[in-house]
Amino acid sequence: MRATTIHAPFDMRVEEVPDARVREPGDVVVRVVRACICGSDLWAYRGEAERQPGQRIGHEFLGVVEEAGAEVSAFAPGDLVVAPFVWSDGTCRFCAEGLQTSCPRGGFWGSPGSDGGQGEAVRVPFADATLVGLPAAALSDERLLTALLALSDVLGTGHH
Ligand SMILES: [Zn+2]
Repeated sequence: MRATTIHAPFDMRVEEVPDARVREPGDVVVRVVRACICGSDLWAYRGEAERQPGQRIGHEFLGVVEEAGAEVSAFAPGDLVVAPFVWSDGTCRFCAEGLQTSCPRGGFWGSPGSDGGQGEAVRVPFADATLVGLPAAALSDERLLTALLALSDVLGTGHH
C-alpha cells in the first residue's frame, strides 16, 4: 500500500510500505477515506519534533473497516469509523477515567512500528475501545464525510 513517510525536516514522501493487516485478535484494518494534516504534523515537518527517518505520519483519519480480528465485537467489515488521535485498550484505570492518551497499552498513530493516518490503510489495535462508529449513510455525502473528520482530533482537543 502507499503511505506518507517523513525522512527529515521538509522531506516527506509517498512510498510503498507493507500492507496494514490484522496482527492481534482485537485489531481491525481501516481503509482510509479521509485524513487531515494536523498542526502537530507540521512540528515534525519543520523539524521542531524529532522523527525517525521513514516514520509514518498522520493521526486524524476516518475510513471503512476492511478486516476485523476474531475478538472484535463492535465493528465489522463495511462499517464507517473515525479514529481518535491515539489508540487505547479501554480497560485500564486511565481509560476508565477518560485519559486514553495515558493508556499504558495505547499509542500514537505513526509512532515507529505503527501505521499513520496519511496512508491507504491503518492497522487499529484495540479496535472496540479505540474507534467510534459513524452512520454508513455519510459515505455517500462528500461534504458530511469531510466535516466528520473533525471528530478525530479537532473536537477532542477542543473539548479537552
Ligand atoms: Zn487503557
